[in-house]
Amino acid sequence: MLKFTPEKINRLHQILSDASVISIVSHMNPDGDAFGSSLGMLHYLTEKMDKDACLTFADPDTESLAFMLSESDRNTFFIDKINSEKTRQRLAESDLIICLDFNAFSRAGSLEIPLKESISKKVLIDHHLNPDESAFDLVFSETQISSASELTFHILMAMPDIDGDASKIPSESAAALMTGMTTDTNNFANSVFPSTLFMASKLLEAGVDRDAIVANIYNNYRENRVRLMGHLLSEKLVITEEGMAYIVLDQKTADAFDLKDGETEGFVNIPLSIKNVRMSGFFREDGDHMRVSLRSKKGTSANVCAKQFFHGGGHENAAGGRIMFPEDVPSVNEVAEYIERICNEYLKQN
Ligand code: 5GP
Ligand code: MN
Repeated sequence: MLKFTPEKINRLHQILSDASVISIVSHMNPDGDAFGSSLGMLHYLTEKMDKDACLTFADPDTESLAFMLSESDRNTFFIDKINSEKTRQRLAESDLIICLDFNAFSRAGSLEIPLKESISKKVLIDHHLNPDESAFDLVFSETQISSASELTFHILMAMPDIDGDASKIPSESAAALMTGMTTDTNNFANSVFPSTLFMASKLLEAGVDRDAIVANIYNNYRENRVRLMGHLLSEKLVITEEGMAYIVLDQKTADAFDLKDGETEGFVNIPLSIKNVRMSGFFREDGDHMRVSLRSKKGTSANVCAKQFFHGGGHENAAGGRIMFPEDVPSVNEVAEYIERICNEYLKQN
């Protein structure tokens, strides 16, 4: 059940009406839900409220998410990694910042400090545990929901100019929200609530082309991704007696398969299909650290494990974080041993 009240929607509508320059921020290494929720909000603001709104992100989109951004979206997309000066200027000029799909400024990567220093009004719309409420003027935080895209959908449906009629949601918003919900639920495999199916039903009725969206997400990979997946599953997957499944992807292997950012999305889910596996981890070398993705079955908390051992967090059964070199382990060569020790201990205790 969603917690937000009509009064909260009125406050949001007032804040949006009062704002003249709006920036939308999502988390670093943006995924489908980051773009889905952000583009969903962006097109509502520009098309329904006639606002000067844009996306300001730390990192660009990946090749696999490029289909989500139209030519006109790209004209309103400021990327700190590519043009820091313009991005920060845009943030500084904004009188409203809307943060989507993350719970604390530290998740905004290089935009953490600009966000902390900004004096503009800030609204949070998010579905992660433990949001940093004190950093925002208005917070929409729901954790019993599939995605930030779904939460954005329900918020837009409650706005006076949509008034519960999904066909009044701009078509670009509707498609983006369906895409973000689809990627965060892994195509309806997890985190699906009655409200999620309601959203899907309303958006289908409103004319969203879900077949095209699913084809863009799942049938559009480069060959190398599928070949790397096969290699990792047959050669690199380790399963411990405690039920921890993990894959370590070093830079050398990533290079050998010409891997691009975002192409390992979803790999972490596969070992969970094995009967005795309780938690699955995907560990990818990334400069001075390993990026960590964790997924767990019901009864085991990926969130607590990520928080306790990998400087991260997320949701109960889907979380992420990092292993730092050399603070946590000297180098990628010792990562497997570290993971095995920590995760076996964690699974024994929980
Ligand atoms: P993924 O494995 O798909 O990268 O991330 C799974 C979930 O964990 C996402 O909801 C994401 O927001 C969260 N997450 C990923 N990395 C981090 C991190 O470094 N810190 C925190 N707090 N959450 C993370
Ligand atoms: Mn999300």
